[in-house]
Amino acid sequence: MAATIIDGKQLAQDIRNEIKQEVSELKKEGLIPGLSVILVGDDPASQSYVKGKEKGCEEVGIASQLIRRPATISQQELLDLIHELNQDPAVHGILVQLPLPKHLSEDLVIQAIDPKKDVDGFHPINVGNMMIGQPCFLPCTPHGVIEMIKRTGMNISGKHAVVIGRSNIVGKPVSMLLLQENATVSICHSKTPNLSEITRQADILVVGVGKANMIGADHVKPGAVVIDVGVNRIETGKLVGDVRFDEVKDVAGYLTPVPGGVGPMTITMLLKNTVQACKNTKITQGV
Ligand code: NAP
Repeated sequence: MAATIIDGKQLAQDIRNEIKQEVSELKKEGLIPGLSVILVGDDPASQSYVKGKEKGCEEVGIASQLIRRPATISQQELLDLIHELNQDPAVHGILVQLPLPKHLSEDLVIQAIDPKKDVDGFHPINVGNMMIGQPCFLPCTPHGVIEMIKRTGMNISGKHAVVIGRSNIVGKPVSMLLLQENATVSICHSKTPNLSEITRQADILVVGVGKANMIGADHVKPGAVVIDVGVNRIETGKLVGDVRFDEVKDVAGYLTPVPGGVGPMTITMLLKNTVQACKNTKITQGV
């Protein structure tokens, strides 16, 4: 039986329509959610990601500001810019597009962002709150992954979820969020022997490795929900995931495509976090 393809674009559009509605309610109260994106240097992939974020903001009515700085910016200049944005009441969300040039510390930059404006969810305070299940900004890609699984109608509770990858931005947070949804979670990585033996036990399989086409039908339990986070550009210039789509679609119950799967959901979750950051100021200001 062929898998149901999870249409990330459509799902993202549905959520964006909900966000648009929330933004127009906020505007009636005189509040305009604002996102500042800092882009250092001119890496082509980063430029394209930033463009997608700006487009998303425009679509839902978030005021976005792209701040470009040359790759030669010093650590202190970048920190000063972040401190300035931390103080600006019109800015509800701050995002520094990663990766940064080698001479800049990503850790210092992330830690400089006010956790209340950290809409990427990378600040250690937000990561810690996620870990202990307290309110926080969830990192966008993992949040998008959980939304996609939930919208298949599957009850995550009690399922065996296998996550391949243990990075701080994908594998670890996805695993933690699945655990909070009461899944039994196995985390696999480059040192995991017999990968397919473990992945074949998965009711939910999330793949975030960054290796084109590494997961085939022999890794997948029939009927599983398979979420492919990987984005890889192959020699032909085509974008592909970590999962061999044509093979796995005949085994899985649900499957995300690349492109058009997790990617559109990631930006949408950023928009959601920015609106939430704006709403949070209402609570702290007692509006
Ligand atoms: P990463 O930091 O390079 O982490 C990759 C993980 O895969 C590591 O934990 C690594 O294990 C593991 N791994 C490598 N080879 C493996 C193997 N043969 N078997 C099992 N595990 C293996 O990458 P990332 O930042 O998490 O990103 C992963 C992928 O997701 C990339 O393709 C990236 O472009 C994509 N991505 C997409 C979005 C989106 O919005 N769609 C967002 C973020 C990332 P070790 O820890 O042992 O090295």
